[in-house]
Amino acid sequence: MKTDRFIPDHEWPELLPGWVWLVGAGPGDPGLLTLNGLNALRQADIVIYDALVDARMLDWVRPGTEIEYAGKRGGKPSPKQRDISLRLVDLAREGKRVLRLKGGDPFVFGRGGEEAQTLVSAGIPIRIVPGISAGIGGLAYAGIPVTHRDANQAVTFLTGHDQTGDAPGAIDWEALATSSPVIVCYMAMKTLPKISAALIRGGRSPSEPVAIVCNATLPDMTVLETTLEAASADAEAARLEPPAIVCIGEVVRMRQALDWMGQMAGDAPRNLDPLGVRKLTETG
Ligand code: SAH
Repeated sequence: MKTDRFIPDHEWPELLPGWVWLVGAGPGDPGLLTLNGLNALRQADIVIYDALVDARMLDWVRPGTEIEYAGKRGGKPSPKQRDISLRLVDLAREGKRVLRLKGGDPFVFGRGGEEAQTLVSAGIPIRIVPGISAGIGGLAYAGIPVTHRDANQAVTFLTGHDQTGDAPGAIDWEALATSSPVIVCYMAMKTLPKISAALIRGGRSPSEPVAIVCNATLPDMTVLETTLEAASADAEAARLEPPAIVCIGEVVRMRQALDWMGQMAGDAPRNLDPLGVRKLTETG
């Protein structure tokens, strides 16, 4: 399709009337929206956005586009998930070009899968536009690579609570503790005491490094470096508030070298070889 001045020439997909696109907005910094996401914003008749979507990108819609909030925070009443999904169905049936804008990636802990299921069941055509998930891009802004060849060959993403609000009961904590060198926790601030205790019980070292990244990629981003044993007390003492990503694993040490935002602000790298192995592997 023909593009406007906002987006470079390319065979962009067209958001047609009666369709719903579920679009990932990325973790915060509006620059982390994908080009497919921007292309969607430039075509939508209505944008239904979530609490964790940075409002600055909503300015990028065409004039006259309706903007509707469907978030679950911010002191406003929380619409039920089912109501949001049905609203999307109704709008599509009215023949609107509907953009459902969700924080991070729509299919990572964001209930995008459920919304998509409702739409498909109702016969509404959909497209999924992936986004940068907070557990990857948010950590990158903190200078933490979610994998590093010297530290881990696997990573686990988990949610800090299940449908009951408690630490997820379906996780085998012992197996996780012994098999996953890096564990990235979403929505884990409330259950951090339980999660860290379960991992230590499962055999994880109490002194393992942990980073808690709040408001990742946003101007008020904060990063707390701590240990598994001290994480929940330190988070409480620092009065950390969600949204936050908790990263458990040796890769957290890489921040000592790779805190590029700190370096932009004038900090020197604290350690150029935080894992203490580079000399051995440099040639590999
Ligand atoms: N779909 C989203 C996750 C939604 S669940 C994604 O892929 O990123 C909401 C959780 O995501 C928050 O509780 C928090 O754990 C994490 N999160 C989202 N944005 C964040 C941010 N800017 N900083 C830190 N954590 C964030």
